[in-house]
Amino acid sequence: MLFLNKEKGVIVNEIRVRIAPSPTGYLHVGTAHTALYNWFFARKNGGKFILRIEDTDIERSTKDMVDIIIESLKWLGIDWDEGPYFQSERYDQYREAANILEKKGYLYRCYCNKEEIEERRDKLISEGKAWKYDRHCLNLTEEQKERYEREGRLFALRFKVPEGITIFSDGLHNEIKRDNSEIEDFVVVRGNGHPTYNFAVVIDDSSMHISHIMRGEDHISNTPKQILIYNALDLDVPKFIHLPLILGEDRSKLSKRKGTVAVTDYRDMGYLPNAFVNFLALLGWSPAGEKEILSREELIDHFSIEALSKRSAIFDKKKLLWINAEYIKHMDAEELYKYVKPLWKKANFDLSLFDHNTLMRVIDLIKERARLLTDFVDSGYYFFREFDNYDEKGVNKHFLNDYSVNYLTLLSGEIEKLDKYSPDVIENLYRKIVEERNISAGKLIHPTRLALTGKTVGPSLFHLMEFVGKNRTLDRIKKAIDFINREND
Ligand code: GLU
Repeated sequence: MLFLNKEKGVIVNEIRVRIAPSPTGYLHVGTAHTALYNWFFARKNGGKFILRIEDTDIERSTKDMVDIIIESLKWLGIDWDEGPYFQSERYDQYREAANILEKKGYLYRCYCNKEEIEERRDKLISEGKAWKYDRHCLNLTEEQKERYEREGRLFALRFKVPEGITIFSDGLHNEIKRDNSEIEDFVVVRGNGHPTYNFAVVIDDSSMHISHIMRGEDHISNTPKQILIYNALDLDVPKFIHLPLILGEDRSKLSKRKGTVAVTDYRDMGYLPNAFVNFLALLGWSPAGEKEILSREELIDHFSIEALSKRSAIFDKKKLLWINAEYIKHMDAEELYKYVKPLWKKANFDLSLFDHNTLMRVIDLIKERARLLTDFVDSGYYFFREFDNYDEKGVNKHFLNDYSVNYLTLLSGEIEKLDKYSPDVIENLYRKIVEERNISAGKLIHPTRLALTGKTVGPSLFHLMEFVGKNRTLDRIKKAIDFINREND
């Protein structure tokens, strides 16, 4: 067996870290954050990053979730050097380790069923006392054991926690001490034969030669139990680093109930993987002072455990949106097109209306104001197809007044006469009308935008008009005039 082949005291010089998600749900942003720090650490130090799927909870683990977790990691651009290993395929190892522990006298069979435990626990709690497993099965007589066996009871294997103190030094929290009297004799193998998390995780981390375990702070209470198992099996204990949890904007733990926590949801909302990675990286770490936009290479280069914050960071959605907008703005149109094209196709946009270069110019135009990839659909459909809806507030303000029909009619006539339909020519036309009539530019611009896009805001009007083209501009202005006349009737 692998982990027993490992000689105690042999220092594995290589940095080996892992992420070990349970496929009982989507990849949570907290797990993605932990994965990212482990990955940075491995990449920075020429180490190995390992993916292990902790699927021993057979009732709650699904293959679909495994697929989504893998898809999410790939989307984030986090690659792994080994794995995915599946705990469900490693039962032989757990069984063997359990046998060794049993032989060494660390385990005992516990026949108590859930109801019996609950009854004893409730009684104690009602007396105002604290509960931990009362070692009911530690000293069963042979007759008692035989009776339970005859009754066909299943037994769990419990770890007999020795007296003493368990101490470990944490990379972020310094020394953490736990009196063993506070730790109950925990289950390592359940009645149904499945190993518990605290047991399987030790066997795996040891046999996979994990050097550093960087994981969420919510596991601090598990670590002493795991160390007891390492010691009982005479295995080297890896270094532990417990990361503060990410909090929601109300400072409570991020949860599905209160917001979006699945990485794939952020992908579907229109975030770019690099922007999302940049944002996650800054939750609990300031790699470069004030500088907040950092490439993956920079993040890897700056990464160090010592620089991580001990305090929880807040998942600030506004900042995420800002970072995403920055990435979009600075991205090359060709590069953006890779993300935008599938969205446009899905929205049934007729991309053949434009040649490739023009498409790139359309992207460059939209990207100035876009914050999400989905904005390329929401702020871009009017380049590709006709529409029927106008923004309601816009209609009240820019259509239903005493000038819009007159000006739109005037514009239509003037546009008709234009030979060249380029942004500067269109702009000159608007400027001329504004000056001649001594009116505010808004009285021309707002109704035009609403007529051409159905919206009150969007990219530079004269530029977008070029892409909509003269004929479609005239058609849409006519359609808008008809609409206003109908509304006014
Ligand atoms: N499967 C555990 C989890 O998802 C892994 C914890 C650990 O990293 O040890 O929380």
